[in-house]
Amino acid sequence: MKLSEFTNCYFCDKGMAHAGIAFYKLTLDYLILDLNAIRRAQGLELQLGKAAPLASVLGPNEDLAKSVQLKEICVCLDCALTKSLVIGEVGNE
Ligand SMILES: [Zn+2]
Repeated sequence: MKLSEFTNCYFCDKGMAHAGIAFYKLTLDYLILDLNAIRRAQGLELQLGKAAPLASVLGPNEDLAKSVQLKEICVCLDCALTKSLVIGEVGNE
């Protein structure tokens, strides 16, 4: 992890080294289901019947969910042991 990638602790806003030499880096990936891709995958599985497991090989194997927001946060050891994280709040900042 490069110096430019460091952020202060998500909870206490202090530097990562204040609680020791270790810390957590969390990556949160917010995804949306692609309903059209899911329908296509289901349709192919229905057509193949008992051979449905082949659908992932025969079909386009496209992503069924798409990432719309990727966020990384750092959490110091003190906060990692004492704080709770509401994931939905992190994504809305
Ligand atoms: Zn902290």
